Amino acid sequence: MVALTFDDGPGPRTSEILDQLKKYNAHATFFMLGKNVKSYPDAVKQMLKDGNELGNHSYDHQQLTKIDAEAIAKEVNDTNENIKNICGSPATVLRPPYGAINDTVKSSVGMPMILWNVDTLDWKTRNAQKTIDTVLSQVKDGDIVLMHDLYEQSAIAAETLIPELTKRGYQLVTVSEMAELRGGMAAGHSYGHFR
Ligand code: ZN
Repeated sequence: MVALTFDDGPGPRTSEILDQLKKYNAHATFFMLGKNVKSYPDAVKQMLKDGNELGNHSYDHQQLTKIDAEAIAKEVNDTNENIKNICGSPATVLRPPYGAINDTVKSSVGMPMILWNVDTLDWKTRNAQKTIDTVLSQVKDGDIVLMHDLYEQSAIAAETLIPELTKRGYQLVTVSEMAELRGGMAAGHSYGHFR
């Protein structure tokens, strides 16, 4: 099993990634910014309908370790409310921007926090082939792969990775699907992979 995760969207390329996931009966998790979801309501609805996981990535990409408990709760809740207003369900998992976590964050978010252990650096290279090569050279069972659905080159990479990982025998699942089979998750705790 591998969990592909896409941060910072939804954006103009999100629906292409969703179409490709659907074509291969694959699932992924989308860690969305609360400020973006209203611009792409159809993508958010499609995520849920197709069995993907709705993730919360704060409202406007705040580093949660730099704000107080009340502000953290607002970032999380405003995002969940926007997602729920569109598709009827809030996010089920949270990825803190930059992976930044401290004790205040742990006690304020009220959701499991999902990190990653394969970092494609797709936002930096903006090169589909490099993203593909990074994933295929590193990926193992139980990994959580970090990508971003905002960029054209990341969407192109995902469109190759989804069939290729499937062909190599990996089941592409959501974070919660993987967690359920491998020890579960709890609010305020963080996870970088599931072995
Ligand atoms: Zn981010």
